[in-house]
Amino acid sequence: MNCAHTYPALEINLDKIYANTKYIVNLCKDLDISIAGVVKGVNAQSEVVEKMVDGGCEYIASSRINQLIQLKANGMNKDTMLIRMPMMGEIEKLVGNVDISLNSELETIIKINQECKKQNKQHKVVLMFDLGDLREGIFDQKEFIETAIYIENNLKNIKLYGVGTNLSCYGSIKPSYENLEKLCNVAIEIEKNIKRELDIVSGGATTTLPLILDNKIPKKINNLRVGEAILVGRDLEDYWGYDIKEIHKDTITLKAEIIEIKEKPSYPIGEMFIDAFGNKPQYEDRGIRKRAILGIGKQDFVFHDTLIPLDEGVEIVGSSSDHLIIDIQNSAQEFKIGDIINFGVFYPSMLYLTSSTYVDKYYI
Ligand SMILES: *Cc1c(COP(=O)(O)O)cnc(C)c1O
Repeated sequence: MNCAHTYPALEINLDKIYANTKYIVNLCKDLDISIAGVVKGVNAQSEVVEKMVDGGCEYIASSRINQLIQLKANGMNKDTMLIRMPMMGEIEKLVGNVDISLNSELETIIKINQECKKQNKQHKVVLMFDLGDLREGIFDQKEFIETAIYIENNLKNIKLYGVGTNLSCYGSIKPSYENLEKLCNVAIEIEKNIKRELDIVSGGATTTLPLILDNKIPKKINNLRVGEAILVGRDLEDYWGYDIKEIHKDTITLKAEIIEIKEKPSYPIGEMFIDAFGNKPQYEDRGIRKRAILGIGKQDFVFHDTLIPLDEGVEIVGSSSDHLIIDIQNSAQEFKIGDIINFGVFYPSMLYLTSSTYVDKYYI
């Protein structure tokens, strides 16, 4: 047991995050694709961001403007990219602090232009095209091209930096050669009209990486915005069937402490109604089982099924806001009160755990 830390804690392996960054940056570099390192999943922790910068990310991106502002204030020197369309109340901060933003509303871009004039600045805009995932972006191709041309010709303090798209988010639509080629074709159309090349054609996120691995990425795509594959790297294997040896999945380990060990029936006793969150879970009667309670709960990780027990014979049974119950019946280890149990994380629990002030964070 490591007594130097308080629990629950996240042990974050910076070397592995650096190695993941470097692998993905190099993989994409061969195809002249730059990487915007997306840091929202770890609450933009500066230690982690530093590794993404060292690993070769060309831009640092987040959906939360304050994370980008904080990083710049701490001396981070890469260009920042806001990847959620700015709100009206964010435009002043955006122009003052952020280099690039993804946008889909001309009304907002006009406001950004006005603010730029006020601050005597330029701001770079990536115009988002919706290829069918139906989250952000202009859906109509003609409107998309016209908007781009309007920005180029009329908004002098805006640099039309490029075009982009977002997939696999709301509509679960897979990136493909075919849908990304549509983005490339409108980019070419826009370039013909404005008589210059766009700086970036941004073809998505972690879920576009399979196209790179399969050599099916349209040539004109020259940027991806990658978070998950760098930070945890579990989705490509678990959901997409790509087990990439070079990507470390054990970058972040959750450590939680045992506060109770008892043998109890596995099926609750009395009239069954609802749990602490108003749900009616199913319970399997496995007889009397040895279980432990850990001092961590839904307030910290939200979904216990996005945690992966790393200790042999440990199974997650359930959780409430401040407790996580595990079954240790089949473990060969003799657990004691105060022992630490280890879990790997998927992206959702990483997102919540890194922003919980009740979870200690330390780096190795
Ligand atoms: C979160 C986000 C990304 C990064 O997604 P990952 O799956 O973590 O790679 C990229 N682009 C946009 C617009 C996002 O919101």
